[in-house]
Amino acid sequence: MGKVNLILLGPPGAGKGTQAKRLVERYPLVHLSSGDMLRAERAAGSELGKSVQSFMDSGKLVPDELVTEVVISRIKRELSAGDKGVLLDGFPRTEQQANDLAKAMEQINEKIDAVIDLQLDSKVIVERMAGRRSCPKCGRVYHLKANPPKNDNMCDDCNVELIQRPDDKEEVVRKRIAVYEEQTAILEDFYRKVGILKVVDAAQDIDSVSESIFKIIDQIIEN
Ligand SMILES: [Zn+2]
Repeated sequence: MGKVNLILLGPPGAGKGTQAKRLVERYPLVHLSSGDMLRAERAAGSELGKSVQSFMDSGKLVPDELVTEVVISRIKRELSAGDKGVLLDGFPRTEQQANDLAKAMEQINEKIDAVIDLQLDSKVIVERMAGRRSCPKCGRVYHLKANPPKNDNMCDDCNVELIQRPDDKEEVVRKRIAVYEEQTAILEDFYRKVGILKVVDAAQDIDSVSESIFKIIDQIIEN
């Protein structure tokens, strides 16, 4: 099957993790998330990894240029290793990184074939996230509307009262959305100009979102 290189964009609550998993099952793709790549590089103890570690240990954000170096060296390794493409998640985040990525891909005769942009109205995101409740004992996640517990606000398994994690509180969710939208608008412009931005409506149910993405990729592979 044809090899494709993809970038996956999506706000919190858009089901990006689920879709990434399905894509990797269906196509010859390696899922590379920026967080995982940084942790892997640190664990490998390379020179790059040691720099990453010094930032992480001091609780500082790893600088953009260092992230770029880690990610690009990993992409090159993956793409030269076999016949799988890459599914990038969490990278690039800036226009500079998008430019650096394009250059690096060109050097190894590769390119990004499509940027899958999961779009979800911020009202829906807030609704999805704000309804989430978790069991403090077993970690099981519920949703007040989509997946409520049998007994009001109690975990089905533990009979412990459910809590709302700080990350899911409306105010925090709104801030995360604002940050995401600001970053993403830049990337959307960039890849729209390149002509590979593919917008997918993430308000559909999960299976329909998958189908929409598969259609886009199948078309690329056929051509
Ligand atoms: Zn529980």
